Amino acid sequence: MRAAVLVAPSTFELRDVEPPDSVTGWQSIDVSACGVCGSDLGIYDRNPPIPEYWPGHEISGLRDGRLVVVNPLVFCGTCRFCAAGRENLCEAPRMISHHAPGGFAERVHAPEGNVHPIAASADHAACVEPVASSLHVLSVAGPLEGRRVAIVGGSTIGLLLAQLARQAGAAQVGLLARHGFQIELGERFGAGPVDFTPDVTLVAVAGDGSGLQWASDHTDTQGHVVLVGNIRDSRPLTLKWIVERELRVSGSQRYTKAEFLDALARVEAGSLDLDALITHRFPLSEISRAYEVAAAKAEHRSVKVLVQP
Ligand SMILES: [Zn+2]
Ligand SMILES: [Zn+2]
Repeated sequence: MRAAVLVAPSTFELRDVEPPDSVTGWQSIDVSACGVCGSDLGIYDRNPPIPEYWPGHEISGLRDGRLVVVNPLVFCGTCRFCAAGRENLCEAPRMISHHAPGGFAERVHAPEGNVHPIAASADHAACVEPVASSLHVLSVAGPLEGRRVAIVGGSTIGLLLAQLARQAGAAQVGLLARHGFQIELGERFGAGPVDFTPDVTLVAVAGDGSGLQWASDHTDTQGHVVLVGNIRDSRPLTLKWIVERELRVSGSQRYTKAEFLDALARVEAGSLDLDALITHRFPLSEISRAYEVAAAKAEHRSVKVLVQP
């Protein structure tokens, strides 16, 4: 089968590889669509690149002719966090795309318990994973009904959070995003400018972490700041405000199994506008182009870029 192997920083090579050995209980799925995630872009130019395996963790595909979505988080099932239903904090997690071959290939393998039939399009099914990440942010944030919610970051997670915060009954939802087209999308989802003092700030940023400082500087006294994504903490929060205004700061890591299934149900129900977020599609042979377009957001007005083997 063909797979997009990261052979050097920022260099994919389409290779004919042996399909991964079928591990006992792991199933073979013919990949239909796989999303390019901010975390994929984060490791793209890393030197040396992630060895051995090809990336891709937002995966939908066909198993025995039926559309399925893959939960890429293979949790141990026995540690104290798994025992408590907090698989997102599993002490021995294996990620498909990192510890096992990912979805930028014609085929992927996953444990039976991580493969879920879904009644949706293949493109929408590939969005279940980022929806699950967003749902976990909301669960960390707590009830949003009546709250004034600011969202920092206009990529996929930020724009999903805008939709979900509205649906959760927030009194006000504002989006702080870098690019004009992201702000327009936010408005379409009911998130205008942040012209209020938020009491909940959801920070979904990759990169330089400038959103963290904004959150600590602008969130209301005794407000709650929730952080998600690849934060490289080069620009810290303003610690003075955490103390003087008694801000609460929480992190959000991955998603539980229950949240993944909740995300699946919401995608099946069509309660989220995913078509507005899926801006580009490329065949596997053009994966380098897919990464380029996903990274150059302003130039291409890109949000979610899908690769379709
Ligand atoms: Zn991701
Ligand atoms: Zn575990």
